[in-house]
Amino acid sequence: MNLNDVKALDAQYFMNTFGDRGELYFTHGRGTKLYGNDGREYTDFFAGIAVNSLGYGHPAFLDAVKAQMDRLIHISNYYYNEPQTLLSERLAKATGIGRAFFGNSGGEANECAVKLARKYFKARNKRRYEVISLINSFHGRTLAMTAATGQPHYQEPYDPLPAGFVNVPAGDIAALEDAITPHTAAVMLETIQCEGGVIELGGDYLRQVAELCRLNGLLFIVDEVQTGVGRTGKLFSFEHFGIEPDILTTAKALGGGIPIGAALAREEVASAFEPGDHGSTFGGNPLACAAGLAVLNILENEGLVARCAETGEAFKAKLMKLKQTHAAVTDVRGRGLMLGVQFVPDVHAKDVVKSLARAGFIAGAAGMNTLRLAPPFTISTGEVDGLCAALDTILSEA
Ligand SMILES: *Cc1c(COP(=O)(O)O)cnc(C)c1O
Repeated sequence: MNLNDVKALDAQYFMNTFGDRGELYFTHGRGTKLYGNDGREYTDFFAGIAVNSLGYGHPAFLDAVKAQMDRLIHISNYYYNEPQTLLSERLAKATGIGRAFFGNSGGEANECAVKLARKYFKARNKRRYEVISLINSFHGRTLAMTAATGQPHYQEPYDPLPAGFVNVPAGDIAALEDAITPHTAAVMLETIQCEGGVIELGGDYLRQVAELCRLNGLLFIVDEVQTGVGRTGKLFSFEHFGIEPDILTTAKALGGGIPIGAALAREEVASAFEPGDHGSTFGGNPLACAAGLAVLNILENEGLVARCAETGEAFKAKLMKLKQTHAAVTDVRGRGLMLGVQFVPDVHAKDVVKSLARAGFIAGAAGMNTLRLAPPFTISTGEVDGLCAALDTILSEA
């Protein structure tokens, strides 16, 4: 179909939640390249919102997923499930956080985390249910996660929101301490607020939060839906900071594009869930778990997490150079291959994303003025140089 036909059908039949979706659609991908209906090749610096860390069409990934498809795609969670047990074991051994539950998305992983935190205190006969999260955070689109997401423009259309969520400013440990009440159950945060503009919270603050949780008997929930599975240069970003989450959530990159989300919790916390307390029809089905195992195997076999750290460091240094030569760039943030370029208020990230697409590069926006770069881990130095050169030209013309 040509682009105008697709646009017309979309405008007539799809709910208008994503607005203007650009001037092309993609037909296929290979490696770090995406191919448009316009016949052009694009280098991908967005990976489907930090999902496609292995790029497109990775042979070992496709082999593993196709083999599982041939055997068994789905079975109910009333029966044991070999790929699910293997992925649970794998994640526990990689993180030191003992037990897993699988859903189908980041939002569901976070719902599981909050339900588990509430159940943990209920099992101890304590009325502690409130979750403190941060302003400018992003935790998902379910109604409860909208309450946890500290961004009024996501919250206002859905008033009244579920009770039991408090949002405090990020980086302000006194504000967090003030928000703790006898009903507080947990603190939930991202180590880098990716959706919120690639804002790093920093090791000092994260360690203070962990200590505050410990002193007050609160559970510490770290949302690694976007930072997890290698993107920051460690398998999970908490490893950079010497902090230990009680509950960790992850999703985006875990399934290599097959939907899966996971909540991991340490044994004492996880054991608060009893049979019937939580569940999911699709969550952790054999196909999704085989995909998760394949992703983790490939990251390990190909040394891709270390490569992500190396490429990310060089990439960030090159973006810093653009900051020196362009007044429009006020900051470069992030870690590994989760990078953000902050522009002055009158340079809109969406316009830069459009200009980059015209130059053959796919990138994303975070908020009004931040360009978000989250390429596959296999992105090459030459491709990084190409993106930086294109950005240089665009900013010179701006
Ligand atoms: C994307 C994201 C979510 C929500 O994930 P979905 O799969 O869209 O439900 C939650 N938390 C963070 C940090 C995210 O980046």
